Amino acid sequence: MNRSRSQKNVVIIGSGIGGLATALQLFKKGFHPLILEKNSFTGGKMNRRSIQDCTFDTGPSLLTMPFLLEQLFQTIENKPLSEFLNLLPIDPICRYFFDDESSFDAFTNRDALREELQRFSPQSNKPFFAYLQHSEKVYTATKDVFLFNKFDGFLEFFKPKNFSLLPQLPSLKFSQKFHDFNASYFNDKRLVQLFDRFATYNGSSPYLAPATLMVIPFIEFHYGGWYPKGGMYSLAETLTTLVNSYSIPLHTNEAVSEIVYKNGKVRGVVSEKGTLYPADIVVSNVDFHHTQKYILKRDVALPKDLSCSGFSLLLRMKKQPSGKLLHHTIVFSSDYKQEFDDIFENKILPNDMTIYISNTSFTDKSQAGEGTENWFILVNAPAIEVKDKSLQNNYAKLILKKLEDRGILRKEDVLNIEIRDQSTFQQESGATFGALYGSSSNSMFSAFLRPKNQDKLLKNLYYVGGSTHPGGGIPLVVLSSMIVSNMISSHYST
Ligand SMILES: Cc1cc2nc3c(=O)[nH]c(=O)nc-3n(C[C@H](O)[C@H](O)[C@H](O)COP(=O)(O)OP(=O)(O)OC[C@H]3O[C@@H](n4cnc5c(N)ncnc54)[C@H](O)[C@@H]3O)c2cc1C
Repeated sequence: MNRSRSQKNVVIIGSGIGGLATALQLFKKGFHPLILEKNSFTGGKMNRRSIQDCTFDTGPSLLTMPFLLEQLFQTIENKPLSEFLNLLPIDPICRYFFDDESSFDAFTNRDALREELQRFSPQSNKPFFAYLQHSEKVYTATKDVFLFNKFDGFLEFFKPKNFSLLPQLPSLKFSQKFHDFNASYFNDKRLVQLFDRFATYNGSSPYLAPATLMVIPFIEFHYGGWYPKGGMYSLAETLTTLVNSYSIPLHTNEAVSEIVYKNGKVRGVVSEKGTLYPADIVVSNVDFHHTQKYILKRDVALPKDLSCSGFSLLLRMKKQPSGKLLHHTIVFSSDYKQEFDDIFENKILPNDMTIYISNTSFTDKSQAGEGTENWFILVNAPAIEVKDKSLQNNYAKLILKKLEDRGILRKEDVLNIEIRDQSTFQQESGATFGALYGSSSNSMFSAFLRPKNQDKLLKNLYYVGGSTHPGGGIPLVVLSSMIVSNMISSHYST
């Protein structure tokens, strides 16, 4: 017989955004959650570093789909998000610099966007909006199946509630590559590159991933890009404060080394310190592959299709007079195909890399001093084991040289520099080889093969977070926590 929820102990392994959000939702549903976190801090990939007067978000820097956070705080607190976080709209979302020295400001305001397109590439005005219209249709048709609910893979197509999706399958373009789809809309190669870049939002290559990723630019242009005042880490801080306010036990510096199970049922977890935590339900917020191999001790192979990782620089900069950068800026490589071949096939750091710069001091003066700016630089990198750390400095120099050649930075203005690579991300969050989003979408079947939220063999073991359904990135991780909390609560009696 089921015990009531109020007696159910849930151990949550990991305090990433998915772990924290799940703990809070389960608590509100009457469960007894306990969080075990290996780090001394919460937030996982969402992390913060300070260098003198500058503060850096070292993980996510762009927030999309803010309505999901709104929904999360309504569920947990029954209060609007604005009582907890001051979300600022970032418009233009991003400034793009192309190889031919031209630049494009991606506005979400439709009139401003139209005007900017008229200046930049007048012939692309019509196809740009036609693209967003098509991708909106695809998003609307697919979101409930692929994002907002528990997902049973190919079985979804046999569920009567999803029959209406069948006639729309051709418009999803599963079998077309994302790059080819983008190239079919735009004659201007620069806009193809701009749209191709959205494949990196889940760590994929536009030359391998299916055109279904077209929903990502729709989401960005439709829902906008947002920034919580005080930095992205404010979200992790706010969730942690709520966890503490409800006295949900949260043990930091407590790595879980084993999930204990018997007769097809999880019984609890053991920490590296040797403590046994009995549990009725376990939720792992740790990278799916890491959980399988190192915590469940299953004999599993390394995933072949890991998403990309990152190579990042934290630059404390002398304040720049040029005004070239916005809050988010991209400096594109000259050969995008080669760049992705290097990352996913050759598995090397690309020589000619696309450089992302987040300068949050552009929007939020609290993030840097009077005469300084906080540049977080991120370059896509292969998810591999870093064997030779000595190459790091040279690669950092190459990035700085490119920015200098493009007139974006003067070396003498770099006051401090800190390098972070794949091994940093792996060590900080347990992500396999630093893969930022679990597995990639580099195949037309990726969405179907992504790890589900419940273990196949151990039915009281659940998975939440960016390496599981529905995917990586803060909005999807929040969705993942909603899906898992609902699965658990509907499975156990009140
Ligand atoms: C550089 C970078 C840039 C990104 N940019 C964006 C962006 O702009 N927008 C966006 O939406 N997303 C972005 N992301 C992705 C986003 O940060 C992640 O998808 C999200 O934060 C993952 O959350 P999660 O819940 O899966 O947990 P994770 O952040 O993966 O946390 C897992 C937690 O588990 C803990 N853990 C691991 N092993 C153990 C163990 N054995 N015992 C106990 N605890 C353990 C870890 O310490 C960690 O705290 C970025 C990520 C990175 C790294």
